[in-house]
Amino acid sequence: MKHQPRVLIVEDEPAIAELIAVNLRHGGFDPVIAQDSASAQSELDAVLPDAILLDWMLPGQSGLALARHWRKQPRTKSIPILMLTARGDEPDKVAGLDAGADDYITKPFSPQELLARIRAVLRRRAPESVNDSVTVGELMLDAAKHRISFQNQELKLGPTEFKLLHYLMKHAERVHSRSALLDKVWGDHVFIEERTVDVHVKRLREALGSAGSMVETVRGAGYRLTSLAATSPAPAAQSGA
Ligand code: CA
Repeated sequence: MKHQPRVLIVEDEPAIAELIAVNLRHGGFDPVIAQDSASAQSELDAVLPDAILLDWMLPGQSGLALARHWRKQPRTKSIPILMLTARGDEPDKVAGLDAGADDYITKPFSPQELLARIRAVLRRRAPESVNDSVTVGELMLDAAKHRISFQNQELKLGPTEFKLLHYLMKHAERVHSRSALLDKVWGDHVFIEERTVDVHVKRLREALGSAGSMVETVRGAGYRLTSLAATSPAPAAQSGA
């Protein structure tokens, strides 16, 4: 099934929020509505959306203050934020962009414009989810075809192990803490325990077979994928080698 990007709509006027949600659903998105900053925050704590539509004028904390706050949090800083405003004047736009908004939509707007702008920020902001291929040593991962091979032998990985390996390969030779991996690979769940990472790393190593040693444990720090292990001579005798 095709992934429907989740869009958090932060808008205190129920009629407008509902209208936006209907349009997003028609456009292939999965909208979630929060009517104030507190419920928006608890929504973000539970599940990270792919983009946020943020009303400028909210009761209590303004949309501007929220945008600024989310931009500072490691968990939310890279989520595209589109500000919704009834006012179209320049100082507001500048203030919003300074606060970290990715784009602006001035009310009233057409549904087509709204959808087009959301798609545009998702394209700009989504390098991690682009279908690409990565090679580290003799390990190859083709994200578009969902295939992994080591020394030209195809390997079978579960979906979480695939995502974990994809991330480690794209950021090879660097040490990643368990909490960083939870953030980048699991992303949408804050309440997963760090030992979950260990469980999946173990499964990943098993699935990788002789390439499993490329996933190193860095004591007290986390995990690292390295090509060095693969370039050292294999300990077992291999035919034709
Ligand atoms: Ca409002």
